[in-house]
Amino acid sequence: MKFEQYNISPLIKKSLEELDFKKPTDIQYKAIPSILKGDDVLGIAQTGTGKTAAFAIPVLHLLLRRSHHNTRKQVKCLVMVPTRELALQIAKVFKEIGKHTGLKILGLVGGVEQAPQIKKLEQGVDILIATPGRMFDLVSQKYIDLSRVDVLVLDEADHMLDLGFIKDIQDVMRYLPPRHQTLFFSATIDDRIKDLAYSVVRNPIRIQISPKDPVSKNVNHSVAHMSMDDKRFFLERFIKEYPEQKILVFVRTKVRAERVFAAMQRVNLPTLTMHGDKEQADRLKVMSEFRNGKVKVLIATDVSARGIDIPGVDFVVNYDLPDLPENYVHRVGRTGRGVSKGRAVSFCSPEEQPLLDAIQQYIGKPVSVMQIDKEDYLETITFTEDTPNDNWQLLLDEAEKEEAQRRKKKKK
Ligand code: AMP
Repeated sequence: MKFEQYNISPLIKKSLEELDFKKPTDIQYKAIPSILKGDDVLGIAQTGTGKTAAFAIPVLHLLLRRSHHNTRKQVKCLVMVPTRELALQIAKVFKEIGKHTGLKILGLVGGVEQAPQIKKLEQGVDILIATPGRMFDLVSQKYIDLSRVDVLVLDEADHMLDLGFIKDIQDVMRYLPPRHQTLFFSATIDDRIKDLAYSVVRNPIRIQISPKDPVSKNVNHSVAHMSMDDKRFFLERFIKEYPEQKILVFVRTKVRAERVFAAMQRVNLPTLTMHGDKEQADRLKVMSEFRNGKVKVLIATDVSARGIDIPGVDFVVNYDLPDLPENYVHRVGRTGRGVSKGRAVSFCSPEEQPLLDAIQQYIGKPVSVMQIDKEDYLETITFTEDTPNDNWQLLLDEAEKEEAQRRKKKKK
């Protein structure tokens, strides 16, 4: 079925056409009819599946249909999300799809001045996409009135729980009218998420996308075994081998992010970093430089990268394996989005083997191994422009020893 055949406003169909969205993705196919009917939805889907449009399309349609009797300046749809980037990205999708609808859409995040946000709110906002902190601040200052919200969307609810936003989710209910539609999305589902979900939805339609293989079919992902100290040489080689490709590199902590950044700087490879310590202005600059391809390598932590839609990432490199297996799915889901193909490779050191085992158990199958033979390995760590490390010396010593033994044998 194509979008043309959907019973949605021509104003929305027009922008879908402009975006070149012809057919719904799996989650859109399953979620749109239920949302249009007014049902609560519990959707288990990762980013990259088209889940933003899965709620944006029907919500825009519903609000458009009701807009003639919505004359007062009150928020009609609230989308609550865990991170600033996600808020701004979802707002962008709403604005693109809602371009011809005349509905007013605002992405509301902390870390920036309040005054321009207040001005927009005073002009009236139909769809508010917000992180909890700034939103509650403006609710308590009475700039936001949530008493007429028809639709509440909770996106990346699992991540909200991880970041300790559970109380915010419970609190927001106090401001909403008793009857409203709730759309609850999470990339993963466990008992905690189920408890939370069922405390906010009523008889929801449950939609789960590819539960057995949570990694998108569009992503070719593999693992390369190497020692922890040699990872930087492999990254260097990788970046040099694919100079035209956009590479997203995941590390475990912000300290690691800055270290890898410094290591790449030493070998004259420009990279960007994204982590929790970055100021908002800095984050936007980084995202824009990566998006427009000015710098092609972005080193990020899980928290900072969750939910960000960066079109056209060619490769994901798991420089460190994630501590949580579900983050593996989030990370590799950064490539191969929509209908394009992507690749991901994980650098696994011997000490990270238990993490790899957990990932394989989580996704229900082994990750294919990218074989690196000894010669290739040696070549990679000698190919570096950086000061070689001790391992390199050890391998060279080993090679020399082997050579000496061979000569000795020959003499005999
Ligand atoms: P999301 O999972 O919402 O982050 O979306 C992932 C990517 O898929 C985004 O870059 C969207 O622009 C793209 N996308 C979403 N829906 C469609 C569609 N029906 N056809 C083509 N691309 C889509």
